[in-house]
Amino acid sequence: MEAEGCRYQFRVARLGDAAVGKTSLLRSYVAGAPGAPQPKPEPTVGAECYRRTLQLRAGPRVKLQLWDTAGHKRFSCITRSFYRNVVGVLLVFDSFEHIQDWLQEVMATQGPDKVTFLLVGHNSDLQSTRCVSAQEAEELAASLGMAFVETSVKNNCSVDLAFHALTDAIQQAL
Ligand code: GDP
Repeated sequence: MEAEGCRYQFRVARLGDAAVGKTSLLRSYVAGAPGAPQPKPEPTVGAECYRRTLQLRAGPRVKLQLWDTAGHKRFSCITRSFYRNVVGVLLVFDSFEHIQDWLQEVMATQGPDKVTFLLVGHNSDLQSTRCVSAQEAEELAASLGMAFVETSVKNNCSVDLAFHALTDAIQQAL
């Protein structure tokens, strides 16, 4: 897991239903600032890979390899092969309907206790129209043994925080 100049390199993916804001969240984090140019991914079939380095408050520098996998069924075999080696997953939702399906998708390839999840309530700027309250999401996250963060790309709210929280949790689980 060691990477040049960094103590760790973590492979991270994001999961969730279509159009929930997964790609926007990832690209916004990699771009680093609102209005910054869109990051260019490294070319890969069925997925896009981005990198960003961050410094954890507790000390170590970490390189993140961030995988934005295609949601289309055509790519599902390829997508699964990416889950196989991830150590962290952002589970992005706007309803709870498929949360268990997404968890099982990762567990099926990875086995339990190997992946650290973060539950992400995206589009927090639209919270008043969302069908899940922050409290319900907190409770679900606690019952699944993961942290919960609300994010918005539109309001640039907690985007960095979400990736830092996941990275912190991965490091603590090592
Ligand atoms: P994905 O299919 O889950 O990767 O979703 P996308 O990243 O393609 O985003 C789906 C739609 O949600 C796009 O029209 C985005 O502009 C919009 N979107 C993304 N993030 C936000 C956000 O934080 N707030 C709002 N209001 N819309 C967002």
